[in-house]
Amino acid sequence: MMIVDEQKCIGCGECVLACSLGVIKIRSRKARVGQGCSFCGACKRVCPQEAVDFPAEVPEGSVPCEACPVGCRIKEGFLGACQRYRNQEGSLVRVVPLHGFEEVAQVVGEDISEEIRKPLVTGIGAGTTYPDCRPAPHILHGKVQGVDVVTVVTEAPLSYSSVLVKVDTDLPVGQEGARVKVGKKVVGHVTTEQYGSKMLSIGGVNLLTGPDGMVVARTMCEIANRRAVKLQVEGGARLEIRVGFPPVVNGQESSRMRVGCGSATMGLFAPLFKEAADEVIVLDSHLTSLMSEHAAGRFVGVKPTGVKLRFKQSTPGRYFGDHGSGWGGTSIVHPREVIKELDMKVAWPGMRILVTETTGEKAVMFQVNARGQLEEVELTALARDVVEAVASSCEPSRVSALYMGGAGGSARAGVSRYPIKLTQAVHARKANLTVGGAPTFVLPGGGISFMVDVERVKQGAFYWTPTPATICPIEYTMLLSDYQKIGGHVEAMKPFEVKMR
Ligand code: SF4
Ligand code: SF4
Repeated sequence: MMIVDEQKCIGCGECVLACSLGVIKIRSRKARVGQGCSFCGACKRVCPQEAVDFPAEVPEGSVPCEACPVGCRIKEGFLGACQRYRNQEGSLVRVVPLHGFEEVAQVVGEDISEEIRKPLVTGIGAGTTYPDCRPAPHILHGKVQGVDVVTVVTEAPLSYSSVLVKVDTDLPVGQEGARVKVGKKVVGHVTTEQYGSKMLSIGGVNLLTGPDGMVVARTMCEIANRRAVKLQVEGGARLEIRVGFPPVVNGQESSRMRVGCGSATMGLFAPLFKEAADEVIVLDSHLTSLMSEHAAGRFVGVKPTGVKLRFKQSTPGRYFGDHGSGWGGTSIVHPREVIKELDMKVAWPGMRILVTETTGEKAVMFQVNARGQLEEVELTALARDVVEAVASSCEPSRVSALYMGGAGGSARAGVSRYPIKLTQAVHARKANLTVGGAPTFVLPGGGISFMVDVERVKQGAFYWTPTPATICPIEYTMLLSDYQKIGGHVEAMKPFEVKMR
């Protein structure tokens, strides 16, 4: 078990919260580690008192797990920290067997049937009927693969709508939660990052109904229609974005999306890195990697180098980065700054250290001199090759966007006399919701909240109106028999063959 120094332990319980196996208890205001400990080290990492440490030796019979960077040592009969692997008589076994599709088919549920996958017509150019209790402007029926199908279309003004913008860049755009403005008007906020991308939430009902609602609706519409928009993040970057094009952050165009985080880059390129240098550091704001400690580096036989990084370790060879406008989106402007110390008992004169980024845009090589100092030297041909290999594996940076809308309100009345039945049909995949013919993802739970990739919708199909709201072309397609069942306006149906103008 992990060792707790009772002199230092204050019984705060931080380790209890960090332990995924629940084997730590606080008794008499001191942490006590139980039998099932897998030596994942989480408790040691979070203890504010530095009261927890690994034992000098792990118990006999424990098996090292190599399924992830944590590197648990799992004792006979017990689980690893992720609770997936168990030590069963000296071998690690996955506690849940491999599942075939048939074992999950019921949970996954039915797909939309082929006949209703595409609308007979789209909502683009459909117009709107107001008030909503009037039948939708076009309710068309026709045959698809010999089956009677109905498509109901409208251009729905949606005050519950927003645009989720994905900006592929390593450059910092601003703090999570920071407000995003057009001029002085607040139009959204920075939300959580995705892999290699900064995410912005633009619009939403609270901003649309707020004092800057018109500018909010206009901005959403411009983004969704793939026009250029200039944004300013409060306390952050000036952004020039256009869906389908590279983002410009503070006047600098982001051309490449990172190949992965620093750890993933090491996992992908360790065999080549090993040929290029004795030590490699991949700088990244999420996870910076150090080859000699990283599992991939050890796997390819890299020996310890005595390099210590200034970032906080996550797991061996993986360090949490920070955010800034330096290398790899970190605060490191001069790459040697990432090396906190060099243990010359382990390092050696002539040792070469390659520092690069996850995009391979920048790279530098250092050589350790006899006094243990780093001297910058020219990149060797092999180092240039591996940096080029990283760079050429990157996808181009671009801006993309999902339009999100809530169509579960009054707009349903134009489709059916019993709006709840339409909602139920959508969730049962009996009625297929498309936007300008493009497939949507309908959020689970109540209502009809959907999202669509704006690049699959004809450019210029979104409008805005000063209610304020954005206007989205939507289509519901279903079997005629289902349309009858949900109380659809069958009396307003027209055959699909008639060109609607
Ligand atoms: S986190 Fe540290 S100080 Fe707090 S209870 Fe656990 S061992 Fe004790
Ligand atoms: S090392 Fe991991 S499993 Fe063991 S007590 Fe600490 S958090 Fe729990």
